[in-house]
Amino acid sequence: MHKCNVLVVGGGLAGLQAAIDAKEAGMDVIVISKLHPIRSHSGAAQGGVNASLANNPAGKDDNAERHAFDTIKGSDYLADQDAVEIMTAAAPGLIYQLEHWGCPFSRSEDGRIAQRPFGGAGFPRTCFGADKTGHYILQTLYEQVVKNNIQILSEWMVVSLIVDEGVCHGVVALDMQTGRLETIEAQAIIMATGGGGRMYGRSSNAFTSTGLGMALAYWAGAPLKDMEFVQFHPTTIIGKNILMTEGCRGEGGHLVNKNKERFMQKYAPSKMELAPRDIVSRSIQTEINEGRGFSDPVSGGFVHLDIRHLGSAKIKERLPGVRDICLDFLGLDPIDEPIPIQPGQHYTMGGIDTNKDAATEVKGLYAAGECACVSVHGANRLGGNSLLETLVFGRRAGQSAAKYVAGLSDRIFTKNTLADAHKRQEFRLNKLCRQSGTKNPYQIRDELNLTLDDKVGIYRTEADMKKALTKVKKLKQQFEKIKPAGTDTRLNYNLIWILELEGNLDVAEVLVKGALARQESRGSHSRLDFTKRDDGNWLKHTIGKSSKEGAVLSYRPAKITKYQPQERKY
Ligand SMILES: Cc1cc2nc3c(=O)[nH]c(=O)nc-3n(C[C@H](O)[C@H](O)[C@H](O)COP(=O)(O)OP(=O)(O)OC[C@H]3O[C@@H](n4cnc5c(N)ncnc54)[C@H](O)[C@@H]3O)c2cc1C
Repeated sequence: MHKCNVLVVGGGLAGLQAAIDAKEAGMDVIVISKLHPIRSHSGAAQGGVNASLANNPAGKDDNAERHAFDTIKGSDYLADQDAVEIMTAAAPGLIYQLEHWGCPFSRSEDGRIAQRPFGGAGFPRTCFGADKTGHYILQTLYEQVVKNNIQILSEWMVVSLIVDEGVCHGVVALDMQTGRLETIEAQAIIMATGGGGRMYGRSSNAFTSTGLGMALAYWAGAPLKDMEFVQFHPTTIIGKNILMTEGCRGEGGHLVNKNKERFMQKYAPSKMELAPRDIVSRSIQTEINEGRGFSDPVSGGFVHLDIRHLGSAKIKERLPGVRDICLDFLGLDPIDEPIPIQPGQHYTMGGIDTNKDAATEVKGLYAAGECACVSVHGANRLGGNSLLETLVFGRRAGQSAAKYVAGLSDRIFTKNTLADAHKRQEFRLNKLCRQSGTKNPYQIRDELNLTLDDKVGIYRTEADMKKALTKVKKLKQQFEKIKPAGTDTRLNYNLIWILELEGNLDVAEVLVKGALARQESRGSHSRLDFTKRDDGNWLKHTIGKSSKEGAVLSYRPAKITKYQPQERKY
């Protein structure tokens, strides 16, 4: 059996940063990950990471306070302002640390880290490495993990957290290669399992970005927060929904409808294409719905992202990955042709409820990165703030977990706790592999995807969301009668997808219930039947707790420090 002080679940940016900091604080650390760390979705991040370095001449007056204000305004005032202030103040130090560790950021002519404009930001504040920023940062942190001799259990999937009387003691995980269940004892656990975008079908997320990580914490007694806030990125390529980074517009790209109009003029005249994502996505969807987009029966309609005027040299230097994706997946060269795009699910603003020290309600359980909700993004995240969040709160999670472990006087559980947990999971897996049901798990997954795409998308109504909730409950019942493909647990991807699906269904229920209950429009949650933001009743976070009867909702006020809510205009 493996043992450690701090176990980090997830090898993306949040997990690796947390592991490095826990190790630096003297802890014995293990990273466990269902993917090899450098295959995590963090590696797909394109556009960049925000920090008020004030390197760009157009951003020379930038500072952490302005970064905080833009973030809070972008969040439609739902972000907890104390957490945002911590994040923006820590940003420059973390970027310079990455630079010193060798991260190959793109440079301005004077040799400093270059910064490009991004949506909803008052200044060019986004540091980048061409359009492969996540890949570069992930490799940089992975090198530090190797250098620090941090043990990695790769292709091990956590299937349950071991919690006894509200205290976390370890996990049970499936070693995907051997098919064996393994118990890992740990005094503190940090969840860094990423977003749950693949509850939706039209998503820019990797297929491995599922709700399971959030579900593990939820099942263990840690509530989920603000799950109804789902970000739709304005520009994903039609049909496949692979991301075209906001950097395309940051570098000067235009959005154009079928009448060749730059339609953002109507919706956000001062920021145009660089308004925040919720606004740009709604504007594109409105153009499509009202017949000014291009129609396409398969993908459901699109508009054009035009970067031709940037010229071949700039596209090749600043957006080479975007060009490759267009060539490979659309058979077109964006140097010569506009890119057909539509909004797609992109980011999970909600997640495991944590405080600003990354702690959850369960003792010894921490969370950071996209699976967590601090909340720094509130109802709408600004581009470039998520990579930053993984670094800042990954670090805080590592440090908090180390402090907690250092303060423990003794082990506080009996051996049976671990053995019983292992037996329960053995029973569960046996049942999932051998039961004689009739329902196809992939069909249930597809129906969940379609339901969320169609009924809990960019524009929402009570009638649609009620249908979605009924459907999710029905799919949960069908899950009980699932037909597995085989009994061998070694590299059994059918079993792995069944486990993912169980998590997705429960997290989707929290999402739909939260969305249905929230009778206002705020940030990404845009209701056709309640079109206004309602601070009197809804300036508060949704907290979803697991119970035998399903998700139970309660509310907690958003924290305001000095930025009073105003109407959002761009
Ligand atoms: C295409 C794309 C482009 C993006 N571009 C940007 C950008 O330019 N700027 C920006 O700020 N943000 C961007 N984002 C968002 C940002 O990349 C993510 O929010 C962030 O990288 C998430 O990091 P993470 O460490 O929380 O999770 P991830 O990188 O998703 O890592 C999750 C880890 O958890 C592991 N895991 C999950 N479940 C289990 C389990 N049950 N057992 C064991 N291991 C598990 C996985 O193996 C993986 O290692 C982008 C996102 C996408 C999808």
